[in-house]
Amino acid sequence: MNQSPKVAIIGGGACGLMAALCAARAGADVTIYEHNQSVGKKILASGNGRCNIINTTSCADDYFGADPHFASYPLKQLPFSAFETFCHSIGLLLDVKEDGRCYPLSNEAKAVLFAFNSAAKVAGVKILTETKVTSITKKKNLFIVESAQEKMSYDRVLIATGSEAAPQLGASSDGYTFAKSFGHEILPTYPSLVQLHLNSRVHHKMAGVKTHAEVTLYVNGKEKGKVQGDILFASYGISGLAILDISQKASSALMKHQKVALSINLLPRFESSELNTIIEKLFASVPHYTVETVLSGLIPAKTVTYLLEEAIISPSVSVSKVTNKELTKLLRLIQDWRFEVSGTHGFKHAEVSGGGVSTAQINNMTMESKHINGLYFAGEVLDIVGRRGGYNFNFAWATGMIAGKEMAKDL
Ligand SMILES: Cc1cc2nc3c(=O)[nH]c(=O)nc-3n(C[C@H](O)[C@H](O)[C@H](O)COP(=O)(O)OP(=O)(O)OC[C@H]3O[C@@H](n4cnc5c(N)ncnc54)[C@H](O)[C@@H]3O)c2cc1C
Repeated sequence: MNQSPKVAIIGGGACGLMAALCAARAGADVTIYEHNQSVGKKILASGNGRCNIINTTSCADDYFGADPHFASYPLKQLPFSAFETFCHSIGLLLDVKEDGRCYPLSNEAKAVLFAFNSAAKVAGVKILTETKVTSITKKKNLFIVESAQEKMSYDRVLIATGSEAAPQLGASSDGYTFAKSFGHEILPTYPSLVQLHLNSRVHHKMAGVKTHAEVTLYVNGKEKGKVQGDILFASYGISGLAILDISQKASSALMKHQKVALSINLLPRFESSELNTIIEKLFASVPHYTVETVLSGLIPAKTVTYLLEEAIISPSVSVSKVTNKELTKLLRLIQDWRFEVSGTHGFKHAEVSGGGVSTAQINNMTMESKHINGLYFAGEVLDIVGRRGGYNFNFAWATGMIAGKEMAKDL
């Protein structure tokens, strides 16, 4: 008779929990090691406490890494319909928004964790919390998993330790250390979905100013991306959803020591010639108004103050006195206000990390190492990072599911 495989899952995040459930439901004897006091801390913190659990439209194009197509196979194994069926099996109902983002119907992240925890209990998964794995070694066909408390042996091990993003929630680089100890390559990591630091005279004075804008990313002077959304100036630089969306490419370029800049278009709804005409007409209709008053009808007042400072135009000058040269400069700044990006706000503030365990050495149909039989990697520890919008959990669920099912197979 075949014995059920003894499986260790290192990391009780989204990926580890999914893998544990799938493995246990398929008959494996599963233990999760989690160094936090409880599992799923990032699930609880996600989506501002609402957990953007998946995106119904996910495909490899939504991911970055040395080989984003690595994600294709796992994503296809867990299409939205299959994920929804799985969620129903653990008592979790979902709410799909128009843009494909999906949340628990209760709109509470804790519902997701509760459902996974309850299902894990029913499936007989052992969860060792406050248990930090310090080393994993392989002797003959067995893996020795060592923590401060004990040494245990397993037939198969999944490294689902996530990335270094948000260390305050338990993130660690331990997965990379374990991977390296088995000869796996780690691609340099960098914070992603993160706020950016600016090198400018004015951003800190605009701290707290929030507006809608189009943001264009330049790397070494070449356009590399464009997004529209909210931006929020801060003492250190800039944040807001548009910035998080563009941060992946910005942060990856900064890591390669490339020159990174943002162009901010405060009035993206107008073509530049159209804006020219509108402003000229406005100036002509109220020639005695100050330039500050007129511009405040178009863009947030606090922005106007610093836009004029940057254009070196006195706010109190009447519009009839603004020279053509000044007007041209003003128009350019409104639609192409350049800021040099000097860095990111770091892993502490990042939602995810780029880089990680190279996917070249992992079989994406099983998530098993191509070098070490019985050793698996899944979730954010891998060199795959998704866009904002439920894509990162999507990858964690899909790869966790595959690894879990594979690890439960007969020895
Ligand atoms: C604030 C925030 C909001 C987010 N919101 C969203 C969202 O709405 N939608 C979305 O798709 N993504 C979101 N993400 C990203 C998402 O949380 C991650 O991509 C996802 O959690 C990755 O899952 P994982 O299981 O691979 O890693 P993790 O969830 O990071 O889990 C890894 C686990 O391993 C544990 N661990 C690490 N080292 C050890 C060790 N040596 N021994 C034992 N345990 C260890 C960690 O404590 C952790 O619990 C958000 C991230 C953050 C930080």
